[in-house]
Formats: sequence, structure tokens, C-alpha cells
Amino acid sequence: MGVPRQRKTKSERNQRRSHHALARIQVARCQNCGGAVMPHDVCGNCGFYRGTEVVKKSVTVKK
Ligand SMILES: [Zn+2]
Repeated sequence: MGVPRQRKTKSERNQRRSHHALARIQVARCQNCGGAVMPHDVCGNCGFYRGTEVVKKSVTVKK
């Protein structure tokens, strides 16, 4: 394996690491239940996508 000839300067090291920060994840709101959803994803809580039911969740008995 190749070995670096010379130690990188603090400046080079820090410039490299300037791209390492993590970006905050984007969170959208479900139009049906208001829960947090990833954009372009079906709501994991209620199974709705853009106001229509796409995935049938377990049937809850309503009185
Ligand atoms: Zn929902």
C-alpha cells in the first residue's frame, strides 16, 4: 500500500474535513395524520401518501 510522503498541513487537513459535516434530514408532515414523514414516502404511521390511502394499515375498531 502506498504511504504518504509528507504529513498534510493543518490547512489541507481542515479543508478536507470541511465537507464532512452531516446535513440535517428533511422531514415533511403527513397530510392525513400530521406525523413526520420522509419526502416522497408513504406515511409509516397511517399509510397515506398525498392525502390518499396507499397502504392498508391494521384495521382499528371504531366505536
Ligand atoms: Zn400519516
